Amino acid sequence: MSDSDRPLAWRLRSIVGEENVLVDEPMSEHTTFEVGGPADLFVTPEDIDEVREVVSAVRESGENYFLLGRGSDLLVSDAGFRGVIIALECLMGVSVEDDEMCCQAGVDLREASEMACELGLSGLEFACGIPGSVGGACFMNAGAYGGCTADVLQSVRALMPDGSVQTIPVDELNLGYRQSRVKDDGLVVLSATFSLREDDPEDIRARMDDFTQRREDKQPLELASAGSTFKRPEGFFAGKLITDAGLKGYQVGDAAVSKKHAGFVVNLGNASAADVHAVIEHVQDEVDRQFGVRLEPEVRFLG
Ligand code: FAD
Repeated sequence: MSDSDRPLAWRLRSIVGEENVLVDEPMSEHTTFEVGGPADLFVTPEDIDEVREVVSAVRESGENYFLLGRGSDLLVSDAGFRGVIIALECLMGVSVEDDEMCCQAGVDLREASEMACELGLSGLEFACGIPGSVGGACFMNAGAYGGCTADVLQSVRALMPDGSVQTIPVDELNLGYRQSRVKDDGLVVLSATFSLREDDPEDIRARMDDFTQRREDKQPLELASAGSTFKRPEGFFAGKLITDAGLKGYQVGDAAVSKKHAGFVVNLGNASAADVHAVIEHVQDEVDRQFGVRLEPEVRFLG
């Protein structure tokens, strides 16, 4: 941390407490890829008022900041992040009224899906194997097996760039394939309300079990990764293009194209971010050279 960051660190400590402001925190401990160097400041607000105060203090300071959900779609560089990571993992509140479920941004999607199942509420089955947060799902319009966040989201409560908090209905969120107004306008999702429908918990469970089985059969869940590395290119499947290019198992250092599912770049143990980048770039170049399709990363790069 540079000397000029110190007043900001003091200010943040006064908002969230000493123990919730970490200095030079390794991002490898906060990403599912398990790679990434230190963040200058890593701040964990514990409620929505603290999030508002932290975001406003950081914005006023002019320092770089980044909102962290569960770090399941991130590749942080080996040099780390110069600025403030605002981790939303403590925003864990859930409330349910009839068939509406409101989850704060840090709630794990898999837990939301599980809770909905237990309550006999259908709609979040698709999310049962996505290791992200509710906030990250709204940002990415996360989806799987024919379902996505946009299908069940009713509205989000968000901190706007002007510091106000607004409820934004789903049809004003521009949700598309891995696309949203949350991303485009830099909104901070504080909570999301899902509109679900009543169903037999056993039927819901059966659908979740089916999705879980399909994931376990096809995806390298035993290795660290950030899920599908590339977006689905129009008219193609990234995994098939990569397989057809002969790149399954292609490795740099400890990063590799998964042998089980070529759409995943995995960390075999001690990969650096540079290793992962090298694999991604080689895959992009080789698929482009062989098939004229430029794969676009789905994973977000930081630092
Ligand atoms: P992070 O990785 O922490 O952040 C991603 C982006 O969201 C960042 O830009 C961050 O700033 C932003 N963000 C996070 N929280 C907020 C907030 N509250 N307000 C505003 N912005 C925010 N994804 C799918 O869509 N479908 C899948 O089937 C799927 N399978 C996966 C399987 C595995 C094994 C893994 C590791 C990942 C998978 N993913 C999948 C990717 C990932 O889980 C999703 O993209 C998820 O939505 C990311 O959420 P997160 O909380 O981890 O976000």
